[in-house]
Amino acid sequence: MSCSSEGVFTNGKLVPYGPIELNPAAAVLNYGQGLLEGLRAHRKEDGSILLFRPHENALRMKTGADRLCMPAPSVEQFLEAVKLTVLANKHWVPPFGKGSLYIRPQLIGSGAILGVAPAPQYTFIVFVCPVGHYFKDGLSPISLLTEEEYHRAAPGGTGDIKTIGNYASVVSAQRRAKEKGHSDVLYLDPIHNKFVEEVSSCNIFMVKDNVISTPLLTGTILPGITRRSVIEISQNLGFQVEERPITIDELLGADEVFCTGTAVVVSPVGSITYRGRRVEYGKNQEAGAVSQQLYAAFTAIQKGVTEDRMGWTLQLA
Ligand code: PMP
Repeated sequence: MSCSSEGVFTNGKLVPYGPIELNPAAAVLNYGQGLLEGLRAHRKEDGSILLFRPHENALRMKTGADRLCMPAPSVEQFLEAVKLTVLANKHWVPPFGKGSLYIRPQLIGSGAILGVAPAPQYTFIVFVCPVGHYFKDGLSPISLLTEEEYHRAAPGGTGDIKTIGNYASVVSAQRRAKEKGHSDVLYLDPIHNKFVEEVSSCNIFMVKDNVISTPLLTGTILPGITRRSVIEISQNLGFQVEERPITIDELLGADEVFCTGTAVVVSPVGSITYRGRRVEYGKNQEAGAVSQQLYAAFTAIQKGVTEDRMGWTLQLA
C-alpha cells in the first residue's frame, strides 16, 4: 500500500513521505512501544478544511503515552503537527461531500534498547492518506461474526489505549471472519464471554424500543471519540442513552445495531452471527432509521453543514 501524502511530520519538521530509518533494537520493533491515532479532515462547502475533535486525539495519545511510559507531545504540539501535515497535503482533501483525508499520528519508542524497558528516544510522526469507505460496501449494513476463542484485550491490559499491539491480536480473527464472508469481528468480554465489547476498529451500539445503549467502558474497550460524540448527539436529539453492560443475547434481540469510529463513521449492522445462528436487522438490508439519523447528524457537523454548537471542529485555512 502506498500513502500518497507529500509531507510527513517527523521529529519536529515536515519531510517528504517515504520509509523511515529505525535501529533494529528500537523498542517499538521489539516490545511494541507504540501508539497510533486516527482522525479525518473534511472540506467545507466554502473550500476551507475542518478537523473533527483533534484535541480528543491529542488527549487520548497522552493517556496512552502515560501507560506506555512515553513522553507525549503537548496538545499544542500535536495540533500544530496535524495542521502542518494537513496543510502540506491540502490538495488531497477531497472536495465538499466527496470524502475525507485520513490523518494518522504515531508515537513510537524509536530508541534502541535490548532489555524490556522504556526506550531512550521517541519519534512523533503524522502522515495522511486519502481514503474511501472503510467497509467495501460503503454505507450498506455490515455483517459481524461473534468471536469466542480470541479476545481483543485482557483485564489490566492495554485495551483502553490505542497501542499497536492491540491490533496485532485481532488480525487472525478478522481474517477468519472475512474468509467466511463477514465484514468484521464482534468481540465479547474476556472473562464471561457473554458481554459485548467492540469490533476490531469501532465501538458498538444497539437500539431497543428507541433507547440507545452502548457497552460501558470497563478498561478493555477503546474510548472512541466517535462513540462519545454519538452519545452526545443522541442525547441532544432527545434519545435516552445508556452506557451499561450488554449481553450478546440482548444485542441479538435489538431493533437496530450500529458501529461508530473515525474510519467507519456510523455504520449500520445488517447481521450478527453467533454460534452459527445469523440474526438480521432491518428489512431488505437497509440501514435502520436511528442509524441513518445519527449518521446524518454526525456527518453534518464533521463537514460543517450544520452549526457546530459543541465546538468540536477546528477550521484550518
Ligand atoms: N475501537 C477500536 C479498537 C478502534 O481501533 C477504534 C478506532 N480508533 C474505535 C474503537 C473507534 O474510536 P474513534 O471513534 O476514536 O475512531
